[in-house]
Amino acid sequence: MISIPPSHPRYKSLMLRERIVEGYKRRLVVLEGLIAHGRGEAFDYLLGEETRGFALKAARAGVAAMLLARHPVISVNGNTAALAAEHVVRLAEATGAYIEVNLFYRSREREEAIAEELRRWGARIILGVGDDASATIPELQSERRRVSPRGILVADVVLVPLEDGDRTEALRRMGKTVVAVDLNPLSRTAQTASITIVDNIVRILPVMAKMAGEMKEWSRDRLSGILEAYDNSRILGEAIGFLEERLRGLAARGVFLELPKA
Ligand code: ATP
Ligand code: MG
Repeated sequence: MISIPPSHPRYKSLMLRERIVEGYKRRLVVLEGLIAHGRGEAFDYLLGEETRGFALKAARAGVAAMLLARHPVISVNGNTAALAAEHVVRLAEATGAYIEVNLFYRSREREEAIAEELRRWGARIILGVGDDASATIPELQSERRRVSPRGILVADVVLVPLEDGDRTEALRRMGKTVVAVDLNPLSRTAQTASITIVDNIVRILPVMAKMAGEMKEWSRDRLSGILEAYDNSRILGEAIGFLEERLRGLAARGVFLELPKA
């Protein structure tokens, strides 16, 4: 890995980029995943690379949905495994969710590499690998239609970090609650999920694991109350409105970065 000094103004973002490239070299991530990461980076730049209130509210509702679920599943793709495998495992433990590998570009080698990365962080049961991905989601053409009959097929709540719009819609049509993490509030995923968390998976998944640790002690009534009061359309409106206001503020100033002293 190249070395980036922690004092670099774009340190965190560059480190994530290195992790994705590293994930590509380890065959977790495909080339298309690098492009998807770049699209995420652009939206994170606009968000100011911080977790905002609308993301926290959505994350809380997402955790409540997972804790109330009969059969919650966390869907993992290559980018998620490269960037946040540890946090996926912690969140699964805290919510009792299954972990399932689900890939747009499937190969046995990639499935195994991703499962191995999850095992490295302590995951024991990993669905969707090899013959386990034997069921299909109706209407979907991509390899992502292949799911585990013990996992996504029978899940009532599916957490999808970095999902594709087509599959989000297909899962919704199957009657599932879809909790999505997507930096782009305008994507089809963000727009069609039941609960949309507009944030970077590397920031919000650890927060969700911590929330779940506390919220799992709460009564079902209290958790249901959170879901009943939750309005995804309002949250998406807040996210889009935040971008608008932030850009308006920056636009008013024009130059807003000081040239560092030589
Ligand atoms: P959709 O299919 O939902 O319309 P899209 O086609 O624009 O979305 P994809 O290429 O399918 O986008 O998937 C990439 C999505 O993942 C983008 O919306 C991007 O914002 C988001 N994304 C990428 N990296 C991250 C990350 N680290 N955390 C959260 N979201 C991310
Ligand atoms: Mg897409």
